[in-house]
Amino acid sequence: MRYGLISDIHGNLEALEAVLSEIDKLRVDQILCLGDVIGYGPNPTECVKIVRERTAVCLVGNHDEASLGRVDLEFFNYMAKEAIEWTTSRLASEAIEFLRTRPYTHEFEDYVIVHATPEDPRRWNYILSLDDAGQSFEAFDQQVCFIGHSHTPWVIDLDPDDHMRLRHDYPIKLQEQHRYLINVGSVGQPRDRNPAAAFAILDSHKREYNLFRVPYNVVKTQMKIRAAGLPEFLADRLSVGQ
Ligand code: ZN
Repeated sequence: MRYGLISDIHGNLEALEAVLSEIDKLRVDQILCLGDVIGYGPNPTECVKIVRERTAVCLVGNHDEASLGRVDLEFFNYMAKEAIEWTTSRLASEAIEFLRTRPYTHEFEDYVIVHATPEDPRRWNYILSLDDAGQSFEAFDQQVCFIGHSHTPWVIDLDPDDHMRLRHDYPIKLQEQHRYLINVGSVGQPRDRNPAAAFAILDSHKREYNLFRVPYNVVKTQMKIRAAGLPEFLADRLSVGQ
């Protein structure tokens, strides 16, 4: 099976469309979304509609949950908070219903997906160090756990001697005795200083993982963010990928 993995779309329609057209060219059997379809960007309802039609599974993320009123907004910085309030006031009722019923994790073959961390899928912690990753490896039984949330793509490779290695040398062959924690990056708001939208493909037959970047019409998204009256920084950061 070939899986397309997308995460952290954040209401960015131009980035989502660019990613999906690239995924279609690369031919996958299923698209899985790791959460945060909305928040920050100017097209939340449109993005939810497309994700709903195009993905086999979509998880709930912290911004999705905040827009449903299930997370205290005090956990967010003022820009994220303002964007969440803006999103909540505009989200169509079908979109709310869809997001409200999304799961926190999903298991398939020898893999698991979760938005933030496998040890605590309902809390929105970040994996920021190899120490954090060590804890996460203990929390899942599958060979690979795929995550999103921090908007920075990487692969942590755990060898049979329990040594962890941070990798970016795509494509990566998944070796039998190894386990992996993989961040698939962000479609709609990359933060690794590369403004191109990120997505990944997992080929479970070839046992291969690959990360892709697609340029999209950033200027168009920025114009919509400004026209919506959302915080200026949310537009600016898209051109630098931060
Ligand atoms: Zn996010």
